[in-house]
Amino acid sequence: MASLQVRALSIGYGPVRALRSVSLDVPAGAVVVVLGGNGAGKSTLLRAVSRTLTFHRGAVTDGSISFDGRPLDGLSPAQVVAAGVVQVPEGRQVFARMTVADNLRAGALGARAGSRGEVAASLDRVHQLFPVLARRARQRAGLLSGGEQQMLALGRALMARPRLLLLDEPSLGLAPKMAATIAETVTEINAAGTSVLLVEQNAALALRLASHAYVLEVGEVALQGRAAELAASDEVRRRYLGITDEGAPAPAEAPRALRRWSR
Ligand code: ATP
Repeated sequence: MASLQVRALSIGYGPVRALRSVSLDVPAGAVVVVLGGNGAGKSTLLRAVSRTLTFHRGAVTDGSISFDGRPLDGLSPAQVVAAGVVQVPEGRQVFARMTVADNLRAGALGARAGSRGEVAASLDRVHQLFPVLARRARQRAGLLSGGEQQMLALGRALMARPRLLLLDEPSLGLAPKMAATIAETVTEINAAGTSVLLVEQNAALALRLASHAYVLEVGEVALQGRAAELAASDEVRRRYLGITDEGAPAPAEAPRALRRWSR
């Protein structure tokens, strides 16, 4: 079974220390969420796992990452995809001038994509999850709405048949209803056997999706535990869910971003 282990990971962008001795586990079949505000280091963590840090001029300075007991250190991004770890980057990053169908085909270029028959089966599954991608197959991806582009980014990642999906702020910029739809699909993808490491700036629905949660603050793990326990803890309720002791949202402490996942 596929599981991710991050141990004492430290990362720098030149002189900027973005992560300090972060350890984290994604057990096989789990959904794990990493919460934290702007600049906490969430994207940096995912980039380290997908081995795309160098594109951002970042580097691992200490620690290790392994998937299924196999170190990822030293692999190329394509080899990480081939190992079954696929990232959906922040901001979707679909190929705007290509058609929806070609975007999905591009996702199948990873080594695990398999035979033609397997690619066709993956495409069927993506179309089942997101019927809109079938209806708009021949349109340019850039013409899709933000929510549809997020679906396309997810669909493209699924074409590589991931065993572990890395999701960077899938709710970013989406209306609450669309964010909820994406969240439901993540649950479905997980139920079909894919582990998920989800990074989110806000907390309510993310904590409902996940079994375990970590809170990053300025590059360090400040809190971790079962998602239900963290969701119930006073500190998380106050700082990340904007809920006061009386149970009502505290306007001064509830930044808009923290409500994105709310329904
Ligand atoms: P956000 O939600 O704003 O994306 P984040 O939790 O994903 O935040 P990161 O993007 O991982 O945070 O950033 C962590 C720290 O590293 C921040 O201090 C940020 O300014 C810095 N950082 C990120 N990318 C780079 C880069 N390419 N060069 C220099 N510093 C960077």
